[in-house]
Amino acid sequence: MSRPDHPRSVVVVGASHAGVIMAERLRARGFGGSITLIDRSPHLPYQRPPLSKDWLGGEVEPDTLALRSEEYYGDNGIELLLGADVTRIDRQGGGVAIRIRHSHVRQEARRFDRLVLATGARARVLDLPGVDHPDVLVLRDLDDARRLGQRIRRGPLAVIGGGFVGLEVAATARGLGTEVTVVEAAPRLSGRAVGAGTSDFLLAAHTELGVDVRLGTAPVEIVVRGGRVRGVRLADGREVPAATVLVGVGAEPRTEIAEHLGLVCDRGVVVDERCLTSDGRTIAIGDCTVQEDCSGNRVRLESVDNATEQADAAAATLLGADLPRRPTPWFWSDQGPWKLQIVGVVGADMDVVVRTDPAKPRRRVTLYFAGDALVAAECVNAPADFVAVRAALSRGLRPSREALSDSAVPLKKLLAALPVN
Ligand SMILES: Cc1cc2nc3c(=O)[nH]c(=O)nc-3n(C[C@H](O)[C@H](O)[C@H](O)COP(=O)(O)OP(=O)(O)OC[C@H]3O[C@@H](n4cnc5c(N)ncnc54)[C@H](O)[C@@H]3O)c2cc1C
Repeated sequence: MSRPDHPRSVVVVGASHAGVIMAERLRARGFGGSITLIDRSPHLPYQRPPLSKDWLGGEVEPDTLALRSEEYYGDNGIELLLGADVTRIDRQGGGVAIRIRHSHVRQEARRFDRLVLATGARARVLDLPGVDHPDVLVLRDLDDARRLGQRIRRGPLAVIGGGFVGLEVAATARGLGTEVTVVEAAPRLSGRAVGAGTSDFLLAAHTELGVDVRLGTAPVEIVVRGGRVRGVRLADGREVPAATVLVGVGAEPRTEIAEHLGLVCDRGVVVDERCLTSDGRTIAIGDCTVQEDCSGNRVRLESVDNATEQADAAAATLLGADLPRRPTPWFWSDQGPWKLQIVGVVGADMDVVVRTDPAKPRRRVTLYFAGDALVAAECVNAPADFVAVRAALSRGLRPSREALSDSAVPLKKLLAALPVN
């Protein structure tokens, strides 16, 4: 790869899912120049999904979280700067100033031909009385998970927010025997991410696990007595018990560097399908970005799948290669014994076909149709159906509602019988 327009040095700010996979894909595509991966975290880059699931439940050894082994970076000529905060970027000079966090006097600088922003997101905070108390936590990184893990068995846990991370933690904590209350201001659990039927199903699932779910009521105060958190007061006047409170109300993209560079941001760094930002040169990938969906709406996809696919597309962009074909986006969430897998993007007012099996009451598949075309699915405890729908969508199959509505016949069989469009 030595075309004159190809970069010789790439600096990636953020060494998590998107940044690490980007570096890997650049090498896989034959890039021979220098790659520097920078992260303010001191930890070897790790996977975040287990932090609210198996890892939090103590079932996984800490070193299994690593995205790649320590040797991987050296073996592949990838410079990994950890504990290093990028504080200033000078694009004209093609440089990046790095402050090493643990030593304020130490400054480092790197020059680059191309810059990649993979700065991810931070946990959203709530403005509530008592929220600054040390018994009130968020969960975004390994240090947060360690704090939560030390407390999760200690007595009642209140989770503010009934989104995926909150529900995963609630299920994990119930598995450890902890009393858990989930407080969700909206009338449904995970209402922005899943359809009403799946949401109701999740409510029943968590109730079965023994989670006390309070819907449609917002927290107004973290109750602190005797220097300790004792509960959460709700808008309806009631108080739920808590020794620890987890605030799980979503994440906000880290756009500071992009804004400083004058790049267009709109609740995330705006990128096109090649992951180029508004200056046409700087790349941005992963949770910090927003991109257009098939209806032209700007969406932020916070998922491992999106980080991976954007990293791959960005590597192709940097090397002037054709864009890889992007499969339909997908996501998973493990909530105790419940595995939710989603493929495609569910839009408002779509028609649904629900597939259930009286012999398997913990299983449910919801298929979403735009007009007559299958465009998305939510599968609970139905991994084979998820695989079948995902494969069908990636092959361009667009089966009709009628073709898939017979719940007695496995989806794989129904889909296999269809002609390719
Ligand atoms: C608890 C939890 C559970 C999850 N579960 C799932 C799941 O089940 N399924 C799924 O698909 N997704 C899940 N996700 C989402 C998934 O982990 C993210 O989509 C993915 O991590 C995004 O990767 P990223 O590299 O874009 O951003 P991030 O993982 O947020 O990483 C960004 C990195 O950039 C660094 N950084 C930012 N600014 C600077 C700077 N100025 N200088 C130096 N470093 C900087 C940060 O330290 C961070 O390490 C989960 C996330 C969390 C937190």
